[in-house]
Amino acid sequence: MYEKCGVFGVYGLEGAAEIAYLGLFSLQHRGQESAGIVVSDGRKFREHRGTGLVAEVFSTESLRKLTGHIALGHVRYSTTGSSSPRNVQPFLGECRFGTLAIAHNGNLTNTLTLWRKLAKKGAVFHSATDTELVLHLVAQSVFDNLEDALKEALWQMRGAFSLGVMSARTLFAARDPWGFRPLCLGKLREGYLISSESCAFDVLGAEFIREIEPGEMLVIDENGPRSFFYAYSSRKAFCVFELIYFARPDSVVFGNSVYEARKKMGMLLAQKEDCLADMVVPVLDSGLCAALGFAEASGIPFEFALVRNPYVGRTFIQPSQDLRDLGVRLKLNPMRSLIKGKRIIVIEDSIVRGSTSSQRIATLKAAGAKEVHMRVSSPPHRFPCFYGIDFPTREELLAASMNLEEIRAFLGLDSLRYLTLEGLQQSLVPPENQYCFACFTGEYPVPPEEGTGKLVLEEHVVSRR
Ligand code: SF4
Repeated sequence: MYEKCGVFGVYGLEGAAEIAYLGLFSLQHRGQESAGIVVSDGRKFREHRGTGLVAEVFSTESLRKLTGHIALGHVRYSTTGSSSPRNVQPFLGECRFGTLAIAHNGNLTNTLTLWRKLAKKGAVFHSATDTELVLHLVAQSVFDNLEDALKEALWQMRGAFSLGVMSARTLFAARDPWGFRPLCLGKLREGYLISSESCAFDVLGAEFIREIEPGEMLVIDENGPRSFFYAYSSRKAFCVFELIYFARPDSVVFGNSVYEARKKMGMLLAQKEDCLADMVVPVLDSGLCAALGFAEASGIPFEFALVRNPYVGRTFIQPSQDLRDLGVRLKLNPMRSLIKGKRIIVIEDSIVRGSTSSQRIATLKAAGAKEVHMRVSSPPHRFPCFYGIDFPTREELLAASMNLEEIRAFLGLDSLRYLTLEGLQQSLVPPENQYCFACFTGEYPVPPEEGTGKLVLEEHVVSRR
């Protein structure tokens, strides 16, 4: 599973590019395919972008050339459009309001409707991302000032969008009225920052001011930030998966400490535990906080029985099918002396396709575990996401076609239990009706329109050429 993107913006600080670079570094978990930074010194734009990790895309030399006091940065994993360099964000374009840079986290659900409407009016598209649509909507606005034109563009967009938009002199930030994706405001010395997650402020020694509200737009210029609400939805839809899996545990997301929320999920999961086990083992890193909560509430000792090699990243190539098992062990090595003859409860945050889970279970059994039980700190995952998380299709989701017993047998487990939806809701602040649970329930808070989903926009762009 992949998050689509991370957004980071800087206003009013010399060396804005270096600050954005450090911000993007902290948001790397939100997108590993590409990274980009656009800066402005009040008149001229400069940009650097590329495919790869933040540390691979930027060098001291490339950052030195990015002079300016306003910056907008982005890390990306593609859920619409391919990973081609032409889709690397921030998207930069010219319109009657001058040059604009746009960075987007989320997925629009009315992409095709907007695309057709804009194409009919003569828009020519240069990328295969829904982010470019924002630029065209602004350019074709009936309003004559950028602020109102942006507001009009936001009114027309449906689905998930946390946006950073930058003109030569102003930084804008906006969140969709449902609040699917996080976005927050920070302060560093005399300047201001926007970030997908608050953890990026900590590394800079910046102050976390607050989360930007659903339906809110911020305009940050030489007078500081100005806020107003461009739209309102009584139904909020904070993505609960940000709290279960995606966001970093040291972030504050939707008013929750991510660490505390995950620990609470683990504690509630342990409430009805009747399994006699010798140890609780986290699947690093995402199951760690829930495993701590589970161990604390159940009184079963917590052990790091699987040791992760932090240097095996996305570049690791499995040499051949025969060596696949070795590849798994290279990433996660079992501590045999700890595991042999023991009854183990493994804590996972979610089971999607089941392939990774089954490999881990097989690894534990091969290391001599007497019993392997799995507890999952989220409900069964049955439906795809249309709001910016790259889940597999419904057919590939294990829980969409199997019941609990079938999944247990398929994974080779001695027992399996998931956190209930009620348990998940109890782990969260604010109340449950403020969240999106669609990948568990199939109840989509913003119904996806025709054409929502991966690569649809790209197909239309390509077929038009
Ligand atoms: S469907 Fe699931 S992953 Fe997508 S926004 Fe809703 S809760 Fe998040």
